[in-house]
Amino acid sequence: MSPNTVPYLNLFLAHQDSEQVRVAISEVIESGWYILGRQVQLFETEFAAFCQAQYCVGVGNGLDALRLLLDAHEIGAGDEVIVPGNTYIATILAITQLGATPVLVEPQRETLNLDPKQVELAISERTKAILAVHLYGYAAPMKELEAIANKHNLFLFDDCAQAHGAIVDGKRVGSIGNASGFSFFPTKNLGCIGDGGAVTTSSLEIAEKIKLLRNYGSGKKYYNQLAGWNSRLDEIQAAILRIRLRELEAKNEIRRQLAKRYIEGLGQLPLRFLPFEPHGVYHIFPILVSERDRVQDFLKAQGIGTIIHYPVPPHQQECYRDREWASVSLPITEKIAQQELSLPLYPGLTEEQQNYVIKQINTFYSQ
Ligand SMILES: *Cc1c(COP(=O)(O)O)cnc(C)c1O
Repeated sequence: MSPNTVPYLNLFLAHQDSEQVRVAISEVIESGWYILGRQVQLFETEFAAFCQAQYCVGVGNGLDALRLLLDAHEIGAGDEVIVPGNTYIATILAITQLGATPVLVEPQRETLNLDPKQVELAISERTKAILAVHLYGYAAPMKELEAIANKHNLFLFDDCAQAHGAIVDGKRVGSIGNASGFSFFPTKNLGCIGDGGAVTTSSLEIAEKIKLLRNYGSGKKYYNQLAGWNSRLDEIQAAILRIRLRELEAKNEIRRQLAKRYIEGLGQLPLRFLPFEPHGVYHIFPILVSERDRVQDFLKAQGIGTIIHYPVPPHQQECYRDREWASVSLPITEKIAQQELSLPLYPGLTEEQQNYVIKQINTFYSQ
C-alpha cells in the first residue's frame, strides 16, 4: 500500500511536542514577564554552549540577526560585503538595508556553496567582510574563508539560518569567524512557533553591543547609548526553543538518515544531488533536474509536495532591478534556480512515505 499524500513539510509531526510546549507557554504566561526575561537568558546560555560559542544574543528573526551583526561591526554605506549569489534573499537584504553593497560570487558546482577562489577574486579596496551561507544545511568551507579573511583583514560572518548544529572542520557553525546569524522561523531545523533569531559571537564587546542594539540601543531603561532597533526574542519563543534545542541533535540525525536513503534510492537516475555530508544537517534536500517543472508536476499529481529553493536568485529579483551590483551574470547560480527541486525531508516523514517518493521519481524516469 502506498500513502496517497506526502506533504512537503508537516511541522506538527516533525516536533510531536505539543504538550510540553503548552506547559512552557503557560509558565511564561503565569510568570507575568514577557520580554527579555529568564527564558531568553537561559536560552542564550544554552544555545551558546550548543554552538560552542562564547555568547548568544536572542533577537527578533534571522534577517535582523544578520542586520544587527553587520551594524555592530559598523558595516554601512561605501562598504562591500562578499556573499554567495545562490542564497535566500534575506542574506542580501541584510546587506542592502544597511546601505552596504553585496558583491555576489558564484558557487562551486559540486557543493553549490561559496567558492573560496571566487571570494578571493572579488576582494577590492572597499571589501569589509565575507558573509558565508550554510545553504541547505551544508556548511561553507569556513577554514579556507577564515584564511582569506585573515590575510586581507576582513570580517568573516556566516548565515546559519539553515544549519543549526552543522559541523565543519570539527567546529560547530556559530563558533567560527566574527559573528553568526541564526533564524528560528518555524520551518528551520531549530524553529519556534513564531519569529525568532539569534547572533552568536566570541567577542564580548560585540555581544554587548548587540544586546544594546536589539533594545533601542539602551542598556539602562530610558537612557540610549546607541540609535538602536527593536528586535528581541520573546519569552514564549525562548521557552519553546529551550525544549526543542534538547531534541535538535537527534532530529538532525534523523534528517541525515533520510538524506542517505534518498541518495541510495535515487543514485541511478539522471539527476544531481550534493554528496553525502556526515556533518550536514539537511535542512533541505535539493536535487538538480533539467526537466524540473515536469518532475514537480508529476510528483504533485502523485500527491507528493516539493518546493523550489529558490525560483529567482536575488540579483534577478524585481526589488534590485536598478542596482548596479545586481547587473551581473551568474550562470551557475541562474542554472541552480532553473533546476533546483527540494524533496520532503523532516523528522516524522515515514519510511513508507519516503519509499513512495523514491518510487515515483523512478517511475518518472522509466516512462
Ligand atoms: C530563513 C532564512 C533567513 C531569514 O530568517 P527569518 O527568520 O525568516 O528572517 C536568512 N537566511 C537564510 C539562508 C534563511 O534560510
